Amino acid sequence: SWLRICARLKDEVGEVEYRTWLTKIALGPVDDDEITLLLPTRFLRDWVRSQYGDRLSDLWHQEVPFLRRVELQVARAGDPVAPTPPASRPSAQPPVEDSPPARAPAPDSRSDLVTALDSRFTFDTFVVGKPNEFAYACARRVAEKPSSAGFNPLFLYGGVGLGKTHLMHAIGAELLKTGQVSVAYMSAEKFMYRFIAAIRSQSTIEFKEQLRSVDVLMIDDLQFLIGKDNTQEEFFHTFNALVDAGRQIVVSADKSPSDLSGLEDRLRTRLGCGMVADIHATTFELRISILESKAATSGVVVPAKVLEFLAHKITSNVRELEGALNRLIAHANLFGRPVTLEATQDVLHDILKAHDRRVTIEEIQKKVAEHWNIRLTDMSSARRARNVARPRQVAMYLAKQLTSRSLPEIGRKFGNRDHTTVMHAVSRVSELMERDAAFAEDVELLRRMLES
Ligand code: ADP
Ligand code: MG
Repeated sequence: SWLRICARLKDEVGEVEYRTWLTKIALGPVDDDEITLLLPTRFLRDWVRSQYGDRLSDLWHQEVPFLRRVELQVARAGDPVAPTPPASRPSAQPPVEDSPPARAPAPDSRSDLVTALDSRFTFDTFVVGKPNEFAYACARRVAEKPSSAGFNPLFLYGGVGLGKTHLMHAIGAELLKTGQVSVAYMSAEKFMYRFIAAIRSQSTIEFKEQLRSVDVLMIDDLQFLIGKDNTQEEFFHTFNALVDAGRQIVVSADKSPSDLSGLEDRLRTRLGCGMVADIHATTFELRISILESKAATSGVVVPAKVLEFLAHKITSNVRELEGALNRLIAHANLFGRPVTLEATQDVLHDILKAHDRRVTIEEIQKKVAEHWNIRLTDMSSARRARNVARPRQVAMYLAKQLTSRSLPEIGRKFGNRDHTTVMHAVSRVSELMERDAAFAEDVELLRRMLES
């Protein structure tokens, strides 16, 4: 189960953070009801505890229902390191984390459903740009005036690490400020575990009542319910009950309602009935703004050059970008050295390599040739007709943007051209992209295809 938890964490936090912090954890002594995780230093222990402590104990509780606590300790020489703990025994008892809802329902028991919101995720700390401005505006609107016509349900969707959870927490934080409304936020996964726990402890009625008593219900990562038919059914009924009673629902998923095949049709239909807001992949400009804002609050001076470098190299999602910046900042703090481009390349060596490995010049050439319907061999040929030369320039441009190859190296892959030819291609394509929106869109599309 430790391996499973590791895999889950890796998915959740992203490759960068996972490698930076979480691979340092070793599984220590395992008792019947207590698990010890070991870290090599105090700094790491404190960091992991503050950043991942809750999540780690959540995950462990899911694996081992009898668990009382998860301890984080600094490893000492000779600490016994036990193998992965036994798989959770089937039980009639609810997992520990679910014991509160299993209690007899008190009038104010709905506060049990308010899953702790991450105080870092507010509207103030959310950086707005073209790709997310619509979703942001919708989220703000719902936080200001829940249950307004046309905004219920609010369905937020977009790829991993683009800010869905952040926006939902921000809505929650904003609503709770007023103190007038009750808010429940949970992942679809948690929803399912709570539901199952309620069934086990024969308290489904209380569970339903609790859910149906909130003013705003937010369910994150709804795609988790695909294939979980009973939970979907339960969610559907809760959903209807709340909307019919004029309460607000906010849901997030990685796809639009119509693309969430595997969810029941009637649920998908209802999800699409309110406001559907898409968070698009980040642009370079947005990545820069986000980095600037995070760097500004870190107390460490990060030169613009470094921010640009990161925004160019790490394009997949904001979480990875943040992870990279956090690592730089942690290093700067630990060693008291200024952040420079060289230091960045050094500190983030493994991450940058992982991002490079994603795409090769050959793949770029192939995709670009396909896109403009020219022969692959023309990428290296001497032909200079515009319909061949232009795609070739785009391929060079993308090779420069998406790989860490030097100009001469790129030139060599394009029929032994000179590095000045590559340089010219890069500036020519940038220029054209500024002037010609359709062309820019083509290039961006290619970039996105290559990156995914
Ligand atoms: P998702 O839920 O879409 O996978 P998250 O909301 O968890 O993504 O975002 C991942 C990380 O990136 C979080 O730390 C979040 O604060 C940060 N983040 C994402 N988008 C933005 C943004 N526009 N401004 C500031 N931080 C952002
Ligand atoms: Mg999320």
